[in-house]
Amino acid sequence: MKKEVINRLKLVFDAVSENEALARTVVTAFCAAMDVTLSELSDVRCAVSEAVTNAIVHGYGGGARGCVTLLATLYGDRSVKIVIRDSGVGIADIAVAMQPLYTTDKSGERSGMGFAVMQSFMDTVRVRSKVGGGTSVELKKRFSPLPSREDAL
Ligand code: ATP
Ligand code: MG
Repeated sequence: MKKEVINRLKLVFDAVSENEALARTVVTAFCAAMDVTLSELSDVRCAVSEAVTNAIVHGYGGGARGCVTLLATLYGDRSVKIVIRDSGVGIADIAVAMQPLYTTDKSGERSGMGFAVMQSFMDTVRVRSKVGGGTSVELKKRFSPLPSREDAL
């Protein structure tokens, strides 16, 4: 059975670092409408931040201009799906790229933990990618149930 869609969001922005904060703020506000805990909000915020940073830094790392698309959907079963898509360089071996501590960064600034962070904060992380064709990261999380009235008393 198809899940009931409560709300949808589409955000398209330039792949520049100023937009990392924009993306995570917008997604946080979007999910907050569902009455979720601060800890759940923070989990989503961190995971989105990692995926968007990857799109900007790795997807378009060579200074190429491009856009990042973020799609988010809230469902009636209190879950969220967020897709972060770039049209950058793509990933040759997704399984290797997702291993903790794996990084192609040469500057020493990155630790190779972005995908591990996404996996620890979200229920599922699915990556699709094509070399030269870009990358899409799908993040899903189900929020905890609202306390019933009896529990609240
Ligand atoms: P950290 O996230 O800890 O700063 P990192 O970005 O290198 O370091 P991950 O986020 O786990 O670590 O990503 C691992 C590797 O996967 C990257 O180093 C990069 O090679 C590749 N990668 C991730 N996202 C993309 C993307 N959108 N486009 C191209 N390559 C990517
Ligand atoms: Mg990263």
